[in-house]
Amino acid sequence: MNPTRREFLRDVAAGSAAVGAGWALGPRAAAAMLPSAAVSRLQARVQGQLVLPGDAHYDQSKRVFYWNPKTQRQPAIIVQCGHEDDAIRAVEFAREYALEVAVRSGGHSHLAWGSSDGLVIDLSRLKQVVIDPARKIVRAQAGAFGGEVARAAGEYGLVPVLGQCPGVSAIGVTLGGGLGWLSGLFGACCDNLLSARLVTADAKTLDVNAQSAPDLFWGLRGAGANFGVTTSFEARLHVIGSVLGGDVHFAVRDARAVLRGFREIMQAAPDEFQATLNLTPGERGLFISLCHSGAENEADSLLKQIQSLAPTVREVVQRQPFAKLAEKAAATNPGKGPALAFRGIQTVYRDRITDEIIDILIDQLATAAPDVVMGLSHYMHGEVCRVPSEATAFPHRQEHSVHLRVAYNWSDPEETERRFAWGEEWLRQLRPKSDERLYANYQTYETEVGSPSLFGSNHARLLALKAKHDPTNFFHRNANIAARRG
Ligand SMILES: Cc1cc2nc3c(=O)[nH]c(=O)nc-3n(C[C@H](O)[C@H](O)[C@H](O)COP(=O)(O)OP(=O)(O)OC[C@H]3O[C@@H](n4cnc5c(N)ncnc54)[C@H](O)[C@@H]3O)c2cc1C
Repeated sequence: MNPTRREFLRDVAAGSAAVGAGWALGPRAAAAMLPSAAVSRLQARVQGQLVLPGDAHYDQSKRVFYWNPKTQRQPAIIVQCGHEDDAIRAVEFAREYALEVAVRSGGHSHLAWGSSDGLVIDLSRLKQVVIDPARKIVRAQAGAFGGEVARAAGEYGLVPVLGQCPGVSAIGVTLGGGLGWLSGLFGACCDNLLSARLVTADAKTLDVNAQSAPDLFWGLRGAGANFGVTTSFEARLHVIGSVLGGDVHFAVRDARAVLRGFREIMQAAPDEFQATLNLTPGERGLFISLCHSGAENEADSLLKQIQSLAPTVREVVQRQPFAKLAEKAAATNPGKGPALAFRGIQTVYRDRITDEIIDILIDQLATAAPDVVMGLSHYMHGEVCRVPSEATAFPHRQEHSVHLRVAYNWSDPEETERRFAWGEEWLRQLRPKSDERLYANYQTYETEVGSPSLFGSNHARLLALKAKHDPTNFFHRNANIAARRG
């Protein structure tokens, strides 16, 4: 039986363990206990908007990118922040009513962590981006997407190090580590973070940088969602010339030759080069998306190597400003299929592209639905691998490792089990037998040992940091730091 509201609040007042007990009630039960006067008080204290079940925009506001019958949530309240301080009010409110919290910036989490049955702190309307061209720094609010930051920096001839999808938030990708077109040259996104303004689990604001809070600053760079709400941040910008970027398409029947050749090219890739290989039974077929940000003769030579892997069926490659490429829809987005209602994804991290992996990908293609897009992203090389694993909380920097993924979309809820069964079989075949590592930004499953797979040699230090800054695991809708299992 649910406790009365008086008992419930007494438990909350009794401390952190009781807050946990509030969650144990089930967020829906907690939500039903929200008094309307308290909701009105919260609305009066924030500059943004509250969205509640039944409101006109509720269904649209609760959704995130990888929304499907397994990941979907029904938030009790969504705080659409209109000011950075609204996040403080939201944390206070969630604590008072023992609501589970989800923090959302771009909504691209693979496990829909940006939604919750409790309270969602939605930062996506905080869009300010300020470029300091003299210091080559961007200061941006949490709702700024990667594409938006790239466009703003591009106006000053500068580039940020951000992910390959324009709709992923610049801060979301950075807090998990962050791999992008320019990581071979300039490291992971988190290697370029300079400071973050953080709202902590006890609703305090901290300006976190290497001088003010070195430990926390270390933890933010790879395990960042665990320690609070980053409402704005500063990051380093760089100067490069134009890039050669675009897609080279091949016939699917040439997949084996193209995959093997892709591996060879990437094994010798200069820091300035990154490429992603995508494989789909649908009309997009087999294609390599590329970005070269160095000398034109080297770019031309790499393009020729790609063109020689097999007869090309289409090429859309051009010299362009980096911002133009950065604003292009990610190749990782699921392809055309039924009217888009649900999206799902599986990812796995492998230390090499082996012949076995190539064979599995080709075999899996034979049973894939037309909307499936599978691929290899973020071939690890260059500067991102030269930064020691312990320098930031983001540990997985092994040269030649690669991220494999498969994304799909469907509209009929009846299809959900079949779609997941297919994706899980894909994953089962590709999971490594030992030394399994997970990348926080691409986590789609749990391993037997839990979060040590995410944080490797940094796990013990992160556990201590989490115990200090968020002892009740208030922020847990994320690649969560937890004790080793088993
Ligand atoms: C199409 C696509 C392309 C991608 N491409 C890349 C890529 O090229 N490189 C790469 O490294 N990753 C990539 N990703 C993964 C992406 O970086 C992660 O999913 C990232 O966490 C998304 O951040 P978000 O703010 O958009 O998502 P959200 O779902 O809003 O947030 C994701 C996680 O970060 C937390 N979080 C978000 N904002 C904050 C904040 N302000 N303060 C504290 N915690 C916060 C959330 O609580 C959640 O746990 C891609 C994902 C997709 C779907």
